[in-house]
Amino acid sequence: MSITEMPIYSWPLRIYKPSSELLRLPNVRESPFSVKLENNKVKCTLCHRHCTLSNGQVGLCGMRFNINGRLYTAAYGLLTAAESRPMEIKPLFNYYPRTSALTISTFSCNFPCAWCQNWHLSKFASLDGVYVPPERLIEWAIENGDSGINVSFNEPTMLTEYAIDVFRLARARGLHASINTNGYLTPEALKPYLMPAWMA
Ligand code: SF4
Repeated sequence: MSITEMPIYSWPLRIYKPSSELLRLPNVRESPFSVKLENNKVKCTLCHRHCTLSNGQVGLCGMRFNINGRLYTAAYGLLTAAESRPMEIKPLFNYYPRTSALTISTFSCNFPCAWCQNWHLSKFASLDGVYVPPERLIEWAIENGDSGINVSFNEPTMLTEYAIDVFRLARARGLHASINTNGYLTPEALKPYLMPAWMA
């Protein structure tokens, strides 16, 4: 199916095939936001869709899949954009004004909205991004003179495991961290953002 044939309300079009071959990729990581079920099924607990997947199945967002009873994300550090953007254009009031945040994204979304302005990212579940290790991203931000890191463009929920690692490093280097989200994260997934390891 091409983008012109897709229904207006649509889940991301998946353009890769999940398999155990993918587990060697640096962007494919086992997700802690999962519950193992019987018969090799697994439930994703990252967002309130709570997709329950049999072996080989992919969640509605297209970026999480079950291989042999384990849930994997294909989005860890798989970036589609990394750009210094002014804090004033973010939905935050008087938060680090007159500075910029290194703003990153990946593919896909957990909402099927018709009106997404970033549809070229949110309507696809693809592996066609660039893997950037968390440490390298932080160095970019510091080299750019950014005041922080922001996850935006597509739905940041998709980058949660990566964002948690990046945000921990960012705060240790004096950078702020934020996400522009639809808020459909589960409390379990939100907790690491609110009570990060470096405060424990
Ligand atoms: S993050 Fe994706 S796989 Fe997980 S529950 Fe939400 S839509 Fe389903």
